[in-house]
Parts: sequence; C-alpha cells; structure tokens
Amino acid sequence: MTVKTILSTKGSEVITIAPAATLEEAIAVLARNRIGAVVVVGPEQRVIGILSERDVVRALSEHGASALKQPLSQTMTRVVVTCGETDTVSDLMERMTHGRFRHIPVLEQDRLIGIISIGDVVKQRLGEMERESEQLRGYIQTV
Ligand code: AMP
Repeated sequence: MTVKTILSTKGSEVITIAPAATLEEAIAVLARNRIGAVVVVGPEQRVIGILSERDVVRALSEHGASALKQPLSQTMTRVVVTCGETDTVSDLMERMTHGRFRHIPVLEQDRLIGIISIGDVVKQRLGEMERESEQLRGYIQTV
C-alpha cells in the first residue's frame, strides 16, 4: 500500500502558513482546521518548516505568553522529513516511529502534493486488517 493510495481517498489539500506569521496566528490555523501540524512554506510554496502542537507547547513552556507574538519561524522545525507518492505505508510508519513525529508532507519534485498523518496511516492499516480477516473468514467457511 502506497502514499498515493492514501492521497487518492483523503485528497491533496495541505494547510500551509508563511514563516512571518505569529505563533498566535498559527495556533488559530491549527484550531480552525482541527489539525495538529501546519506546513510552513516560503516562496513558490517550497516547504521550509513544520509547526506542530508540540512545538507550541514547548515555546509556551520556555518563553511564556510572549512567544505568541513571535514569528513562528523561531519555533518551527526546519529539517522536515518528507516522502513521495511511491513510498509505502510501512516506510512511513518506520519514519514516524524513528523520528517520533506524526506528520509527513508529501512532495513531488519539491512541490507539496499532500500530507500524511499518523491517523491516516492507522486508518489505512485498520482497513487492510479488516479486509484480510474477512478473506480469512471466507476461506475458513469453505474448508
Ligand atoms: P508531531 O508528532 O507531528 O506533532 O511533531 C512532533 C515534533 O516533530 C515537532 O517538533 C514537529 O515540529 C516535528 N515534526 C513533525 N513532523 C515532522 C516531519 N515530517 N519532519 C521533521 N520534524 C517533524
């Protein structure tokens, strides 16, 4: 099962934000869209960072309320692990487990074409497991 399969059902919409936006504005974007991370893009929509709710918690813990007025570029993660459409769901699980994060933007020739969250991966795996056990049940009934 590949990233392309997941994107074909969930779509390719990605919520993005500019690095000059404040942390307060980024929090509003996360809350309004009910998401856990927002991709930070520079000129030509190139991915230059990612900001997740964990980064928000860390910034507030370290700097208090003053962090809210700072540009989010001070808080975002700059080295972003990405994937391509042909990567498998197992590849993604490996990268998420190893890197301890729950979001991976999907790029095609540096162009942002989607984002996969751990929720998408779990949903996909559950669907696969249900289909497998149905096939097994069907097989057992025939023997
Ligand atoms: P998350 O579990 O996705 O909420 O993120 C946990 C931490 O990993 C935060 O510091 C994020 O900025 C960072 N992070 C999230 N996604 C990625 C990614 N694809 N590549 C690198 N860091 C990430």
